[in-house]
Amino acid sequence: MKVLLVYPRYPVTYMGFQYSVPLAGAKASLPPLGLLTVAAMLPRAWERRLVDLNVKPLDDSHLDWADVVFIGAMTVQQESVNEVIARCRAKGKRIVAGGPHFYHYHADVRGVDHFVLGEAEDVMAELCADLEAGRAKPIYRASGFPDVTKTPVPEWNLIRLDDYDSMALQFSRGCPFDCEFCDIIVLNGRKPRVKPRAQVHAELQALHDAGWRRNIFVADDNFYGNKKRCRELVEAIVEWRDARKRPFVLATQSSLNMADDPALLDLMVRAGFAAVFIGLESVSPASLAECHKVQNLKRSMSRSLATIHAHGLTVWGGFVIGFDSDTETIFDAQMEFIEESEIALATVSLLSAIPHTQLYDRLKAEGRLLGRFSGGIVDASGLNFVPRMDRGKLVAGYKRVVGHIYEPEVFYRRARATIARRIPPALSSFPCGRRELGAFFRTLWYLGVRDEARRYFWKLIGFAARKGPIAVGLAITLSLMGYHLRRLSREIAARPEAAPAPLVQAHAAE
Ligand code: SF4
Repeated sequence: MKVLLVYPRYPVTYMGFQYSVPLAGAKASLPPLGLLTVAAMLPRAWERRLVDLNVKPLDDSHLDWADVVFIGAMTVQQESVNEVIARCRAKGKRIVAGGPHFYHYHADVRGVDHFVLGEAEDVMAELCADLEAGRAKPIYRASGFPDVTKTPVPEWNLIRLDDYDSMALQFSRGCPFDCEFCDIIVLNGRKPRVKPRAQVHAELQALHDAGWRRNIFVADDNFYGNKKRCRELVEAIVEWRDARKRPFVLATQSSLNMADDPALLDLMVRAGFAAVFIGLESVSPASLAECHKVQNLKRSMSRSLATIHAHGLTVWGGFVIGFDSDTETIFDAQMEFIEESEIALATVSLLSAIPHTQLYDRLKAEGRLLGRFSGGIVDASGLNFVPRMDRGKLVAGYKRVVGHIYEPEVFYRRARATIARRIPPALSSFPCGRRELGAFFRTLWYLGVRDEARRYFWKLIGFAARKGPIAVGLAITLSLMGYHLRRLSREIAARPEAAPAPLVQAHAAE
């Protein structure tokens, strides 16, 4: 059997960094970790190839070669998903589809022969046997959550690593919290499942053997979801890294309560972590309570952030606007908090109702659902429900926030504060090869000569230069990320608002 794995294209998103990744010398931000892992679950005798549409086009020759096409996608990729399905149908190819988009919307998607719903590990053997025997079923649904200790190492040989800015690994799945808007706890459960030491070593070693020596994003749902196992996990990374020449710089995503564990923060720095994305969501206690974000509620978020920063980890903060409890004061309050807590990289989204979440069920019961979840959640098209605040005021206020926080003067002030703090020690082991030198000179040309904000850029570089070359490297990275976020934020602020979709009671996928 010849299997073609296809990863559909992303539109421009906050975390896609499409405007800055080419300046850094790559084609896409992250590899398709899910499909690479699924590839490793296929029978050894099957041939496999992978096309990531974010780094290269899908040619007819790819489709002509394949017996079956596997597509994995999130809802934000749906436009490209539909194009890929149409291309496969035109060639008469059998399609297998899995991932969050198909979990939520499989009943609405036409043209797919077989859906894998939920985590793939426990159903892949049956699906592959049925495909081979010509009796595959329309739906393979995982019952419960699989044992991640049996998850294979991703097949890195299917991609060109240098096409990507960062690699990705996953050491745990699931999150114990209960945020009302979150579909992770639906898709991956509330009991974190963690890979053991030997498996962590094997995954790091596979990337090392493949020749990778740069950033790795640890794409766990909540890295600190299981406190005890998280410590064991970080110890395993320290052990592996200390035995080599510290080849990787790590980043991950976690809940804010990791700030309560200073010993773990120290250990993470030793393991090579430099940054952590944290869902802060809101400065409004009423909004945090409404969405069950209890872990942010019973603390001073500013103090927790300061603790994490002081240990040498840079925090990227995620914020959401549009909770029922949000009043018109929320816009200024969010902007002030982002400035005062000096989070250089803050992403602000409008609340969306994702199918199967508690929020979705509540809004459905209240008769407030509008249209479909866009998956984008970065502009008014993501607002798929009737908000409590006047919709026009909410969208205008949201656009004001995203437009403001990436204005050059405002962003570069936060970037300077980031560099003034403790520089993440892990960055000292970042390699400086041809790719990095290319990125350095390209950035100087684009952001230091051509960009409207060059005055602020040079002030930042000058400030960083007084702290040394590692700080200059961090200044370059932050400037690149800020450039992407500024361009995207301006696009969001300038987009005309489409008329809201009509009220719906439910979608076919339910
Ligand atoms: S902490 Fe993050 S992953 Fe966990 S439930 Fe909340 S939003 Fe989801």
